[in-house]
Amino acid sequence: MARRKKIYEGKAKILYEGPEPGTLVQYFKDDATANNAEKRAVVEGKGVLNNRLCEFFMNGLTQIGVPTHFIRRLNMREQLIRQVEIIPLEVIVRNSAAGSMAKRLGMEEGASLPRPIVEFSYKDDALGDPLVPEEYIIAFGWATQQDLDDIVSLALRVNDFMSGVMFGVGIKLVDFKIEIGRVWDNEFMRLVVADEISPDSCRLWDMETGQKLDKDVFRRDLGSLTDAYTEVAKRLGVMPSNVTHRPKPTLIN
Ligand code: UDP
Repeated sequence: MARRKKIYEGKAKILYEGPEPGTLVQYFKDDATANNAEKRAVVEGKGVLNNRLCEFFMNGLTQIGVPTHFIRRLNMREQLIRQVEIIPLEVIVRNSAAGSMAKRLGMEEGASLPRPIVEFSYKDDALGDPLVPEEYIIAFGWATQQDLDDIVSLALRVNDFMSGVMFGVGIKLVDFKIEIGRVWDNEFMRLVVADEISPDSCRLWDMETGQKLDKDVFRRDLGSLTDAYTEVAKRLGVMPSNVTHRPKPTLIN
């Protein structure tokens, strides 16, 4: 039996060697984790939904000229991506206070911010992904000042795109996290949006009811995570093919 090489296994995804050099296959698992993996569960169907939703967002970004690592979806759980050098930062964009920001500053969840705020955490599970200032990032060589300027402008473009897409279906984008990768074309380096964009990495609130449609449903035991993600997928017209209504074949005369 043919076997492919596993390159990396994370909490929600696995990366396999791709069919061509410079490519990888990104597999979306059903595993859900929260609080730095203290809380775990298998949420049936989550991987399929996130694969579809991620494809939808990455394709949209490509169409408006925001570079990403995404090439194409391969099947229900897998997508083909470009191999990139991941910058060890979680780039978080916030439109309203929530989660760790609300806690740290004693703000009410949902309080709006004077402008979108971009912040960085150092990707290290053992340390709990600590918030880091730009000074650290530059001093420790994780990225240059030029990289950071480019990362902030990419993050804000993703924010405008995602906020608009969500607004169109009655959902408020409260905050989200992206990761950025470096792609080398000979001696030239480009920064691209990498990893994933899905309800696992965003806060999404229904604009009318305030209902949470993201991973906080799991983090805070608010109900079915699959139902929440399915609602987002339905509103965006993105449904996994096994659930989509298939029209009956028609006879052609
Ligand atoms: N986030 C993420 N992965 C992380 C940390 C945060 O995807 O390891 C996302 C999270 O889903 C939210 C945003 O980044 O949409 C801001 O998260 P926050 O800093 O408030 O942390 P949390 O409250 O999730 O611990």
